[in-house]
Amino acid sequence: MKAMLFDEFGGPEVLRYGDVPDPVPGPGEVLVKLKASALNHVDIDVRDGVSRFDFKMPHILGIEGAGVVAGMGVGVEGLSIGDPVAVSYVRTCDNCEWCNRGQNNLCENRRLFGEHIPGTYAQYMVAPASHCLPIPEGVSFAEAAASLVAFGTAWHGLVARGQLVVGDVVLIHSVGSGVASAALQICKAAGATVIGTASTDEKLERATADGADFTINYNSTNVNEAVMEFTGGKGVDLVFDVVGGEAFTNSMFVMRPYGRLISIGAHAGEVVPFDIIEFFRRHISYISSHTQTRDELSHVLDLIARGTLSPRIHSTFPLSEAADAHRLMSSRLAYGKIILEIPE
Ligand SMILES: [Zn+2]
Repeated sequence: MKAMLFDEFGGPEVLRYGDVPDPVPGPGEVLVKLKASALNHVDIDVRDGVSRFDFKMPHILGIEGAGVVAGMGVGVEGLSIGDPVAVSYVRTCDNCEWCNRGQNNLCENRRLFGEHIPGTYAQYMVAPASHCLPIPEGVSFAEAAASLVAFGTAWHGLVARGQLVVGDVVLIHSVGSGVASAALQICKAAGATVIGTASTDEKLERATADGADFTINYNSTNVNEAVMEFTGGKGVDLVFDVVGGEAFTNSMFVMRPYGRLISIGAHAGEVVPFDIIEFFRRHISYISSHTQTRDELSHVLDLIARGTLSPRIHSTFPLSEAADAHRLMSSRLAYGKIILEIPE
C-alpha cells in the first residue's frame, strides 16, 4: 500500500510517499481502507522528534482516520465489508480494570495510532473491531476523521469531567484551537454563555460567528479585567483551558465560588505557581481530562449527523502532499482541521 512515511526526525521534507506491505488483521481485528485522515499538532511534534514517543522507523503518522471495512480477522462480529467507520485513536487492551469499567480512555496498556503505532497517513490500517465506530448517515469521511480528537476531547472534558450545565458561564482560552473551538460549539449546544480569548481579531470573529457571547484579544486586553467586567464582577462557572501557563494561573482569579477549571493541555507552560489560599477559600475545583471513551466518540458522531455539532474543515490535501499540509499546520493560519484525502 501507499503511505506517507518518515525514516528520520526533521522538518516536513523528511516525509516520504512510499510503499509498505499491507497490514493484516489478526483475530478480532479489522482492516480499514482509509478515505480521510486529519492532521493534529502532535503529528508535527512526532515528526520533529520532540514528542519522545517510542516507535519503530519508518513510522506512519496520523491519529485520526475514517474509511470502510475492507477485511476482518477471525471472531469479528457486527461489522460487514464496506461499512463506513471512524477509528478510535486510543488503542486499548479491552482487558484491564479501566477497560472493563468502560473507561477505556484510561486503559493501562493504551497506545495511540500515529504516536506509538502506525497511524492513518496510509491506504490501510488495522484496528480492533471494538475501535471501529460506525459513521452515521450524512457524515462524510472527512468530517468523521476531523471530529475525533477535537469533539471527543472537548466532550469528555466539558460534559463527563466538567459537568457542564445550562446557564453556566464558560471561559474558553485560545478559542481558535481545534479542541477549544469544538468546546465552544458544545457549550452553545448545552445552553451556556461563552467568553472566548484568542491572539487575533480574525480568530475572535470566527468564534463570534460560532456563537461566542463575548471575545477578548489577549494580546491587547487584560483578560481577567474584561471577564470580570462582562460578568458584572461575578466571574465564571467554568474555565476550559487547553493552554496552561499564565492562562491557567490567572484563571484562579476569575472563577466564582465552586468554579471548575478543566485542564486538557499545557503547551504554554507545564509547571506554574498556584495560589492555594484562593483555591481553598472559594471551593474551586481543578479538573484534569485526557482523550475520551469510545462511547463518547460515538455520541459525538451522532450529534454531528443531527447537525448539533459541525466540524470545521479548513482545507484538504492529497496524502502525497502531506508535507505541504504540515507546513500549513505549522503556520497556525488554519482555523479548522486540515484533511488528507487518501487515494483509492
Ligand atoms: Zn485496557
